Amino acid sequence: MATKSATKTKKKWRSRAVTRTVDAGNSAYCAVCDELIKFRARIRADQIICNVYVANKWDRVEHFHPECYKKAKAPYGNPAD
Ligand SMILES: [Zn+2]
Repeated sequence: MATKSATKTKKKWRSRAVTRTVDAGNSAYCAVCDELIKFRARIRADQIICNVYVANKWDRVEHFHPECYKKAKAPYGNPAD
């Protein structure tokens, strides 16, 4: 079965989430619980960073605690590493 797939790749900017370690100078607040995402020296803390696009244009960056992001049901998809 030969299927002709004419897949046109239109560039669409979609909001994306990534997982990043929290660094020492971090001063971002979680978009869900409004608490500072704190750097902790002893444990490797992660945060979720989302580039949010609205109407195909970059709008803002949102930060989340990984737990909060999960609780919010991953609004921008599963975070990539
Ligand atoms: Zn939070």
